[in-house]
Amino acid sequence: SAVSIKALLAGQCEPGCEVTVKGWIRSRRDSKGGFSFLAVHDGSAQAAIQVVAPGELENYEAEILKLTAGCSVIVSGDLVASQGKGQSVEIQAKHIEVCGWVDDPDTYPIAKKRHSFEYLRTVAHLRPRTNTFGAVTRVRTVLANAVHRYFYERGFQWINSPLITASDCEGAGEMFRVSTLDLMNLPRTESGGIDFSEDFFGREAFLTVSGQLNAEAYCLAMSKVYTFGPTFRAENSNTSRHLAEFWMVEPEIAFANLDDDAALAEDFLRYLLSEVLEHCEDDLAFFNEFVDQGVLARLQKVAGTSFERMDYSEAIKILEKSGKKFEFPVRWGVDMQSEHERYLCEEHVGGPLIVTNYPKDIKAFYMRMNDDEKTVAAMDVLAPGIGEIIGGSQREERLDVLERRMAEQGLDGLEWYRDLRRYGTVAHAGFGLGFERLLNYITGMDNIRDAIPFPRTPKHADY
Ligand code: ATP
Ligand code: MG
Ligand code: MG
Ligand code: MG
Repeated sequence: SAVSIKALLAGQCEPGCEVTVKGWIRSRRDSKGGFSFLAVHDGSAQAAIQVVAPGELENYEAEILKLTAGCSVIVSGDLVASQGKGQSVEIQAKHIEVCGWVDDPDTYPIAKKRHSFEYLRTVAHLRPRTNTFGAVTRVRTVLANAVHRYFYERGFQWINSPLITASDCEGAGEMFRVSTLDLMNLPRTESGGIDFSEDFFGREAFLTVSGQLNAEAYCLAMSKVYTFGPTFRAENSNTSRHLAEFWMVEPEIAFANLDDDAALAEDFLRYLLSEVLEHCEDDLAFFNEFVDQGVLARLQKVAGTSFERMDYSEAIKILEKSGKKFEFPVRWGVDMQSEHERYLCEEHVGGPLIVTNYPKDIKAFYMRMNDDEKTVAAMDVLAPGIGEIIGGSQREERLDVLERRMAEQGLDGLEWYRDLRRYGTVAHAGFGLGFERLLNYITGMDNIRDAIPFPRTPKHADY
């Protein structure tokens, strides 16, 4: 039976064993001695395994000498100690079956040379064949499993919040509408236009921007919960930090305040970094060499130090005194842009930073009002190179204050959400971590389009 190349390179089989690997050719080199070296990869590891294809193979002339990068093969042979540098074992092939050829090797879009990430985005279906996107994919997998393990080991319940929803909990108006698309029977307004408020079988519905409100409902019964799934935002901006479809991790804890929330965020992030450091050694070494030379040192440092904390008001003073010419000027009361966030953590602190207690008018209605009646118990975790990576808050658990805030922001409805304050309300808090932003931070990749297999941004929903 086939073994993964990762297992072989990790020494799972002794030299002398007969093994079969299934994978794709990364390169072929023919030796003057009448045999060839094939590098075969299968996605399980950064490295390819070296296969020695002897001239005696029955298909040597007819097939092996025609193999090019991208062809799929099944190789069986003996595992032997390798003379080559950088690898302990190689396969002395006894049989190589070619499963799939590459149509026209000269025009194969993923030829061996290094491609720009921009170009690779135009062939998103082929980019997992490159070293870089193989590495991104493996780190993403380790990270996702670490998310679940962290919460599972600490007694959190995993809640699947709905993707189709009626509420715009961020109030930012960045929602995609869900439509039944029954073109013949679209509901009409009196003036004959399409009545979008009846789009979803006679009701109005959207793709969710956050699972938080639903997570709160479960938190106020299960004590500790989290959601981890896709969210959607109609961000009509082309930044390197925003996707129209991205994954978010949203824990929610009861009997907890903003301090507990910040402590959870910090502990969680440091746990994720140390898991990746432990389980993605080769891939991190790759990123450190080819993508961002600072990655390893940064992860090691951040996994082992506590995060700075700072009040929003103090942050604004620092920005005002910085003497920096920002594109968007700051003053108390405005939402920070990434240039401000990055200045604070990159130049002022030199590491991650948790900013707390933002002005109420720039934050969502559900955040808990502070005693000053001007700020709410909100926090953002900012990271060098990225800016905001987590947004969170203590939630408003007092029905009267919540209703006042909803009225202020012109919101009605959400009776079910108000119920949570009517029946056994208690202080609770939570946050949302952007999964792709974190992946960018960890790998040193610059653009969020390169942190998700098939990025969705304005006008891009192919593949
Ligand atoms: P930003 O200020 O960067 O637009 P936000 O404050 O609108 O983010 P939140 O509503 O606080 O975002 O969402 C929680 C987290 O989800 C953010 O801290 C960020 O990591 C991530 N996030 C938000 N919007 C996007 C997006 N469009 N694409 C990818 N990740 C996102
Ligand atoms: Mg936003
Ligand atoms: Mg923000
Ligand atoms: Mg935010």
